[in-house]
Amino acid sequence: MSYFRMIWTHILDFICPPACPMCRAFLRAPNQICPECFKELDFITRPQCAVCGLPFEFDIWEGSLCGACLRKKPRYDVARACLVYDEASKKLILPFKHGDRMELVPLLVRLLEQTGGDLIRRADAVMPVPLHRLRLMKRKYNQAALLAQKLARGHRKRYLPHTLVRIRHTPIQGHLPPNQRRKNVARAFAVKCPDQIRGKNILLIDDVMTSGATADECARVLKRAGARRVMILTLARVCRG
Ligand SMILES: [Zn+2]
Ligand SMILES: [Zn+2]
Repeated sequence: MSYFRMIWTHILDFICPPACPMCRAFLRAPNQICPECFKELDFITRPQCAVCGLPFEFDIWEGSLCGACLRKKPRYDVARACLVYDEASKKLILPFKHGDRMELVPLLVRLLEQTGGDLIRRADAVMPVPLHRLRLMKRKYNQAALLAQKLARGHRKRYLPHTLVRIRHTPIQGHLPPNQRRKNVARAFAVKCPDQIRGKNILLIDDVMTSGATADECARVLKRAGARRVMILTLARVCRG
């Protein structure tokens, strides 16, 4: 860090000291979560479904699949999420998603790296789940793209922000049941420049995985365009059932 930048960081810390993103308690260093809030977060660890990453309550042999993946194997190869999407993780993710809190990017990328080390190593290219341009205008940024870009840079992976595009504006999925979510995202995505992904392992980044319908549809389109493997890495996932 240059001398000037170091002084500037000290001035910034003085005017606006680093705070916990979840409870605003002051902290000694930036890009941290305070110990109290950290305890509230439910990190997803093994045992879990080998494909979609759903945590299991009981220890079960390595490579087991959850009921949903056994009934219908997802089109993506593997999905992993750092946290259970609950009241605690919402306090971390929603301000980032809707509140322009871009200073959270380094912290959130560190969480993705801790959970997705294996996926990142195997990836040839990293890309975000795209937003439709109308939603992009409303939100100003695609938050998943901010995460994907920093992750790709940090690991010297190819970053492809414009290869997968959303061609249909879909209603927000929040309250739709699973079968309607699938219909909602059908034919919503397309691949531009398939040469960039042919035969490649793709790591797709998003903030929250809900039913997995979006991840599944993205994987279908990417594979049809020639991608070898599609891996999904998200900050959190809904863990019902
Ligand atoms: Zn806190
Ligand atoms: Zn599963």
